[in-house]
Parts: sequence; structure tokens; C-alpha cells
Amino acid sequence: MNLCDIKTIKDVMSIYGITFRKEFGQNFLTNPTVVEDIADNCTEYPDSTILEIGPGVGVLTQELAFRYPSVVAVEIDRGLIPVLRYTLSDCPEGVVSVINDDIMKTDIAALLAPAFEKGRVSVCANLPYYITTPILMKLLESGLPFDYITIMIQSEVAARLCAKAGSKDYGAITAVLNYYGVAERLFTVSAGNFLPAPKVDSAVVRIKLHEEKPYKPKDEKIFFRTVRHAFEQRRKTLPNALSAGFGEIPKDVLTQMIVDCGHDPNIRGERLDTAQFVELSDKIAEWKSNN
Ligand code: SAM
Repeated sequence: MNLCDIKTIKDVMSIYGITFRKEFGQNFLTNPTVVEDIADNCTEYPDSTILEIGPGVGVLTQELAFRYPSVVAVEIDRGLIPVLRYTLSDCPEGVVSVINDDIMKTDIAALLAPAFEKGRVSVCANLPYYITTPILMKLLESGLPFDYITIMIQSEVAARLCAKAGSKDYGAITAVLNYYGVAERLFTVSAGNFLPAPKVDSAVVRIKLHEEKPYKPKDEKIFFRTVRHAFEQRRKTLPNALSAGFGEIPKDVLTQMIVDCGHDPNIRGERLDTAQFVELSDKIAEWKSNN
């Protein structure tokens, strides 16, 4: 079934009596080349299980099902479940399982336990815009050993994920993402490739998760706090931003820690890469354990 064909999508939806649900960020892909490119490039391991978040009417699911031995698709919209049963009926038998759930409430570790037991697992999704960052953070913080997380997201969010330290797009999300893996922007997809067309362009980002994290902060929570506070007050210098966040530490002590890490005391947080945040957070952790 050609699920990139606009008439087919509309016909299928009308047969099942459903409409596009804006609140679920439903913008369905209509360009077969884009769909194939995402399916082809979402992992380098063809023997992987793929977790797809938000299959919609199944356009990407279908392509994944012909490339990978197992696809687990989690869709929040109950109305789409019978549609998917129909649109995915041509897929190789036993490859796709569709689960009707909100991915934010799904116990992903339990859902994918059999897949991880069998072998490799990656994530591939055209994510709903309204909830991109929470979904990404849930996947990263799960600690599950995904090889890749390949996601279609708003172009400007993609720029933030792939930004270099010190650039205008660099932010807390970049520093945190780099802690878990390395993001690469694969390609841009203009708004006209979706039904209905969103207001902004999208991009596909592939994150290769570190097999072993290169950073080992003394206290992970303090590392995340350091990053968060550093960017909460973006226009402030790092000592000012951190002293607003770490009220328990005197500002001159924080300034000295920054200098001890080899930075100018007037530096702004956006200049520090992940390794430098880890180094600084270790000093904070040390101070906190001694005071
Ligand atoms: N994969 C399809 C495609 O590429 O055409 C649809 C992508 S559409 C941008 C996002 C999909 O995610 C929709 O099907 C929507 O219903 C689903 N979705 C939205 N929020 C979700 C959530 N919290 N959990 C699971 N699926 C969700």
C-alpha cells in the first residue's frame, strides 16, 4: 500500500472515521524518498530490533518492517490502531508489534527486555513536535543500551542537538546529549513533505550512543544541575549563573573553582563543552561532600 500517497492516506482515514489529531502532533510523511532514507540510515546494524514511536498510519513502520527483523511501534492514538492493522497487513509476518500507549508512560525497559536479550536495539521515529525533548530525555535517561536513536524533529531543535560549544545554538540540551552520545544531522526535510504541512522545516538527527560513557562525573545529579544552572541565566557570567543555582556555595568559592578549571572568571556557560562541565561539577561535588 502506498502510504505516501495523499489520497490513500485520506481514504484510509475516512474509512476508519478518523481525522488528524493536532494535539498528538500528527504530521504524516508523504515523501517516499525521505521515508526510505530514514529507514535505511537509522542504524548500521541490519539485525536490530527497532522501536518506533508514533507510527501514525504506518508509512515508516512499513519500510522498517522490510529492513529489520523486528519493529515495536508505540502509538498513543487509539483510533490509529485498527488503521495500522490494515495498512501493515502486507508486512512480513510477525515482524511488527503495535502497542497502543503513551510513550511517556510506557515501561520501555520491560517492553524491550526480550529484544535486548536477543540482540541490538535502535530507535527510529518521526517525533511529534509538542513532546520531542521529553521523549528524547526519557530514552537517554532510561540507560538502555540503544545503538542509535534516529529522530525527525524541528530543524531548529536539530541545530541545538548538533551544536558546537560556544555557538549560538549550543545549550543545556546539547551538553547533556553529548554526555550520552554523539548527534549527527543527516538531512533537512521541508514542511511540504508532510500532511498536514507543519509551520516549520524538520531535520533527521541520528544519535550514536556511547557504548561506554567517556565522562564519569563524581556525582551525576550535580553534573546535570551544573549544566542546567549554567544555562538558566544565559546572559550572566558563569559564576553569577551558578551562584544563583547553587545558593549553598559562596560565590567566591564558585569563582575559584571556575578559575581552577582553567577558565576566565567572566566566562559564560555556553563556552564549556561536556567534559569541562564534568570537571567543574566534580569540584562542586567535592566541595559539597566536604561542607
Ligand atoms: N510516523 C508517522 C509518519 O512519519 O508519518 C507519524 C509521525 S507524526 C509526526 C507523530 C506520531 O506520534 C503520531 O502518530 C502521533 O499520534 C504519535 N504520538 C504523539 N504523541 C505520542 C506519545 N506520547 N506516545 C506515542 N505516540 C505519540
